[in-house]
Amino acid sequence: MIILTKGKTIKICEDVLSTLYKYRQIEQTSCEAGGVLIGRENLDNDNLIIEYVTVPMRNDRRTRTRFFREDKGHIDYYSKLFENYGGIYLYVGEWHTHPEEYPQYSIVDICNWRRISKTLPKNVKQFHVIVGNKALRVWEFSRGFSGAKEIATYDWRDDIYDK
Ligand SMILES: [Zn+2]
Repeated sequence: MIILTKGKTIKICEDVLSTLYKYRQIEQTSCEAGGVLIGRENLDNDNLIIEYVTVPMRNDRRTRTRFFREDKGHIDYYSKLFENYGGIYLYVGEWHTHPEEYPQYSIVDICNWRRISKTLPKNVKQFHVIVGNKALRVWEFSRGFSGAKEIATYDWRDDIYDK
């Protein structure tokens, strides 16, 4: 999946997409899932490749409509990649699922994204993903910017991901 934005092209790798697809909340009882998005920037052209994601871990809290990323394993996973590859990997943002077809962010999501942006250097953009049952959506979020900007909607193609 390729997203063209102003001055930046973002690629989400197929492995990442097929992982996210598996966590869709198709069953009436399935809980929200989530994790972090990890990628690397191509320094020549400013492009971003989202190559890894973490998935729900034991100490995360999950309900039908909330996901709390509380297991420190998510950050450990990222730190390990960062160390092993000489710092080329970066934290891109968060992903989580919603029990709806075409996901919209909630007030809680915005507060969470804002809280995260405050821990990062100014002018650093984050890209957050919400996985819905029919589509995945991506928002750009940066500090000082009052809202989130939707940059992509990607309709799931069951013929590709339903294996
Ligand atoms: Zn949400």
